[in-house]
Amino acid sequence: FVTQAVQRLAILGATGSIGASTLDVVARHPDRFRVTAMTAHRDSARLFELCLQHQPEYAVMADPAAARDLAQRIRGADIDTQVLTGPSGLTEVAALPQVDVVMAAIVGAAGLLPTLAAVRAGKRILLANKEALVMAGGLFMAEVAEHQAVLLPIDSEHNAVFQCLPCGTRGGDLPSRGVERIVLTASGGPFRRHAAEELHQVTPEAACAHPNWSMGRKISVDSATLMNKGLEVIEACWLFGVDPTRVEVVVHPQSVIHSLVSYSDGSVLAELGNPDMRTPIAHALAWPERMYSGVAPLDLISVARLDFEVVDMARFPCLRLAYEAMAAGGAATAILNAANEIAVAAFLDRRLRFTDIPGVIDDTLSALAPGDAGDLEQILDWDARARLSAQRSVDARYTRLQV
Ligand code: NAD
Ligand code: MG
Repeated sequence: FVTQAVQRLAILGATGSIGASTLDVVARHPDRFRVTAMTAHRDSARLFELCLQHQPEYAVMADPAAARDLAQRIRGADIDTQVLTGPSGLTEVAALPQVDVVMAAIVGAAGLLPTLAAVRAGKRILLANKEALVMAGGLFMAEVAEHQAVLLPIDSEHNAVFQCLPCGTRGGDLPSRGVERIVLTASGGPFRRHAAEELHQVTPEAACAHPNWSMGRKISVDSATLMNKGLEVIEACWLFGVDPTRVEVVVHPQSVIHSLVSYSDGSVLAELGNPDMRTPIAHALAWPERMYSGVAPLDLISVARLDFEVVDMARFPCLRLAYEAMAAGGAATAILNAANEIAVAAFLDRRLRFTDIPGVIDDTLSALAPGDAGDLEQILDWDARARLSAQRSVDARYTRLQV
């Protein structure tokens, strides 16, 4: 029995769905983990509750007004938490010298700079924020190597693939190790059985009611359009250093198989479990060891059957757009990500039909004729331009919707 040093954690996006699952796992192992920093966007009441429970050294509210509110609440309570704000507060806590592990669970492009700060500080990074890799995969992976950061996937599919890859493979040359393909499973989302005509009318509420997973609103809509799977194909290419032609998607409605790796000798390895994000989170927190996550053991008899279907790219064109952007390379995936964020926000705001989400992304990719995206400045510039262009496409479609 080895006594381990307590691991100190920064949780970026502590008030979100992944943040909550992380805190749940961590609370089961008070001897192994201590929460040193927590961050959130605007919900100061929720972050204050979490501060009372976990008493971190630092709490960051990205929004300055929310930060003032949190600071006031903390002054009135008997805890010793320092409140920071803005992008600089987020990057500061991601790189604190006393922090060992950073859970990167901010949603969207807002997570890129804080997650990169953790990479540059050489931390162990638990990556939920897939958008960071979609925007800046090449640069991100180069920085991971340069700073000897340890990058562990939290996305359930990528965590499953990581577990099924040959031991010791960390983005090496997978084909030479016998890996033929990576197969990502997709639940198919809440509209798997909807006819194309029915998809025009679906509401944000219906899109956010995922059959198997309870998640934040943005990723819930992404799961409904299958853009989530598209972002995950891109994420897999960067994480595991493979070409998109080696990454396949299969619909598996039960979400019990979280993904598979197929080898040249015909072996196919899969990771199975109940669909609960505490499993990949506990896996990455304990890696290379194992620890209890709170997830019930898988009951194969009650699962009874595992089904598989092909993806219908005609009803769900977002997946095709993601494959095409990855194949195009350069700035295309950063543009795809930004346009998707704008389109999803507009859909949630009832300013865009569900079926217009891929149209907005397609418009944006055609309007910008993506060029180079080598450095961070260029990537952020493409991101900003894509947001403006996507917003124009949303506005045009909204006007048409009104007449
Ligand atoms: P969520 O919406 O529940 O939480 C998002 C968190 O990010 C919140 O704490 C919020 O305060 C913070 N945040 C949002 N905007 C911000 C901004 N502009 N600046 C700073 N902080 C901001 O989302 P989630 O479901 O927890 O997902 C988080 C990330 O994890 C996403 O990238 C998602 O794709 C990925 N992910 C989630 C799941 C899941 O089951 N929820 C599974 C796999 C991957
Ligand atoms: Mg996933």
